[in-house]
Amino acid sequence: MKRSLLILLALFTLALQSCVFRPSIDEQGNITVRTANKLMRSHGARQFEKMKRDKAISTDPRYTEPVARVAERLKEVITLPHAEWEFVVFKDLSPNAFALPGGKVGVNTGLFQIIGDDYRADAILAAILGHEISHTTAAHAQQRILHAMALIAAGQLLWFSLDTNDIDHPEYALAGFALTGYLADALPFSRKQEYESDKMGAIYMAQAGYDPRASIELWKRLRDYHRINGGQHPEFLRTHPHDDSRIEALEAFMPVALRFYQSSK
Ligand SMILES: [Zn+2]
Repeated sequence: MKRSLLILLALFTLALQSCVFRPSIDEQGNITVRTANKLMRSHGARQFEKMKRDKAISTDPRYTEPVARVAERLKEVITLPHAEWEFVVFKDLSPNAFALPGGKVGVNTGLFQIIGDDYRADAILAAILGHEISHTTAAHAQQRILHAMALIAAGQLLWFSLDTNDIDHPEYALAGFALTGYLADALPFSRKQEYESDKMGAIYMAQAGYDPRASIELWKRLRDYHRINGGQHPEFLRTHPHDDSRIEALEAFMPVALRFYQSSK
């Protein structure tokens, strides 16, 4: 392949990446809120409605009351234009939660085995909800789509250049690009969003008056859960960071989050 085409490909990818890689939180904990576009918001709402139809919803007040209580306090410190917040507890034993564009948040009943019922329970739940809300206020789903489009565009450019350069097996080069793009770019991108949501979540919970150190406790408990139940693949193959890595990152960020906690009192 001509060197000029390679350089063009690299520049093109970098240019697209720089449009997409815009952090939503800085070193001082200042958050830049991003609103997902209308299409993403209505898609998120439709998907959430479908999940509510397809999955069993819990009305058990042991779960719904703390979720409503903590969500209410978090909503007070978050302004997201066009958000139609909705928090639903799903009967699902896997300790998981999710967020969809537009302000839709799902929490599985299985998370309550991690949250527990002692004095830290609300703060740990705030860490979970704060993290999920952050995926929405940073418009992470939309960023992932833009990012995937950048990769596809780079792939097309590569295809075009291979086509015009008479290479014996262009499919190998393209497969190599796809695999490299996935491992070296798409997966780290998802992990980066997770780290970002951890930090933003710690700020939101601190602003709402919950001790942000509970976010570290949450990930320690999840790490212990994963050690017993599995689910930790090598980090480079994961969309989510390894539990130990996010605990380390959160510990390093804690002085910043604690400043917000102190000033919330
Ligand atoms: Zn997440």
